[in-house]
Amino acid sequence: MKMKKAKKCVICNIRKGRRFCIKENDFICSRCCGLIRDTQLCPSDCPYISSLAEKKEVGELPLYKVLMTTQKGSRSILVAREKENGNLQFISALVDEWKMGLKDCFGKHDVSKKEFNKLVARMPQYADAELNECREIIKRGILVAEAIGLKIPKEFRVFKYILGDLDKVEVTGSLYRCFECGKGDLPDDIVEQIKEVTRHDVAAGVCGTEKETMIYFVCDKCKREKEEEVGEVEEVK
Ligand SMILES: [Zn+2]
Ligand SMILES: [Zn+2]
Ligand SMILES: [Zn+2]
Repeated sequence: MKMKKAKKCVICNIRKGRRFCIKENDFICSRCCGLIRDTQLCPSDCPYISSLAEKKEVGELPLYKVLMTTQKGSRSILVAREKENGNLQFISALVDEWKMGLKDCFGKHDVSKKEFNKLVARMPQYADAELNECREIIKRGILVAEAIGLKIPKEFRVFKYILGDLDKVEVTGSLYRCFECGKGDLPDDIVEQIKEVTRHDVAAGVCGTEKETMIYFVCDKCKREKEEEVGEVEEVK
C-alpha cells in the first residue's frame, strides 16, 4: 500500500502543506506560514510563532509611494516599492474603519511605473501618507474583521509582505476609534453596538450600500468640543 501524499497547501495550492496551521485549521506550506504569521493575530499556541522572534530582518525595497484616501471612515491605502529592475511591486488595501475593517485587497508583484501611475490617477482622493499610519489602520482593520467574524481577503496574504513587518505595529485602545477625529477611544458598549450593527448589515448584505444602517460615534473630547460650539452659537443670539 502506498502512503497517502501530503495534501497541497490550502493557501497557495502549489506547494505541499506540511505545517498544521491552527488559524487556518488546515495544512499550509512553510512559505505561506511565513507570510501570514503574525504574533498579534496568530493563536499563541502556534508552534511556528516563536521562530518569528529569531527571524532576521529581511531587507525591504525602497518605498516608491505611500498613499491613502482622505475621506473618513473608508480608507483606500496604496503602498508601492521600487524593485531592482526599475519596476514596482504594490499592495492596495481597502479598510472600512467604521464597520467591517479590512474588506478588500489586491496588488501586483511586478508592474511598470507608467501602469502604476495610471492606476493612481483613477483615484483622485489619494494623498501622501505615512507608512506607519497606514500599517496601523490596516492592522486595526484585520482585528476588526476578525472580531466581526469576516474572512481576511486571500490576496492580503499574498501581498502583505510589501507593507513590511506588521508585527512591530501596535494597535492600542478601543477596537473602533472616534468617527470624528479618528484618534479618541470609544467606550466598550459603543464598540459592541457597532459590532452588532455591522454583523446585521453584513448578514443583510447592505454594508457599503445606501440601505446600510447609518451610525456615527464620537469620543468624549469631540463630544465636548461640539457642545462648546453649540453653546457659543447660542450665546451670540
Ligand atoms: Zn502555500
Ligand atoms: Zn500558525
Ligand atoms: Zn474624537
